[in-house]
Amino acid sequence: MQLIYYWEGCSTWMDRWAGFLQMQAEARKAGSATCLTACDCRIQVIIRTPTQHALIMQITRRLEFDAGHRIPSHTSQCRHLHGHRYAIEITLSGEIITTDGISEQGMIMDYSEVKRIAKEQLVDAWDHAFLVYRNDQAVLDFLNSLPNHKTVVLEVPPTAENLAMLAFKLLDSAYRHSYGNNLQLERVRIYETPNNWADCLRNSS
Ligand SMILES: [Zn+2]
Repeated sequence: MQLIYYWEGCSTWMDRWAGFLQMQAEARKAGSATCLTACDCRIQVIIRTPTQHALIMQITRRLEFDAGHRIPSHTSQCRHLHGHRYAIEITLSGEIITTDGISEQGMIMDYSEVKRIAKEQLVDAWDHAFLVYRNDQAVLDFLNSLPNHKTVVLEVPPTAENLAMLAFKLLDSAYRHSYGNNLQLERVRIYETPNNWADCLRNSS
């Protein structure tokens, strides 16, 4: 807190010094952005609180997985059965944990915990699976004809955008803070190739 004071227009301001000190004490008690004026000697006491710049802390964990897909309505290459080495990046925000002596001190969340949750909720299910749109009947029938085939049926065509959106919805409730540090999922990025990716972001507005 910064205390600013000045006076003017009073030739006997030294006589007012005791009063000034009293006003200063009252301004301190009143809190920030308080201005007191004495009408006779025009002493002002102004307390200003410095602007607080909130810091936002984020961490990101990247995992990779392989999966097959096709975009049935696409007019070019993507309508063919094919696969990708996908990457998923999970970005979390939160406050740094300050509890002394615990393993997570100084972290938002342990990266190994971010990974464990992502694998449990999504990556292990999608890895080496075929991601198929539920209305892609021809491929669905084919996959169903294969004994014990790892197939993931999606409500939407498996574009990078839709996969990022589905991943965000699956993971959002899984990332919860254990230490009251307001941890939350902020972004899921899905790389379909090193040059093509889609982001699903939390809308904070
Ligand atoms: Zn593709």
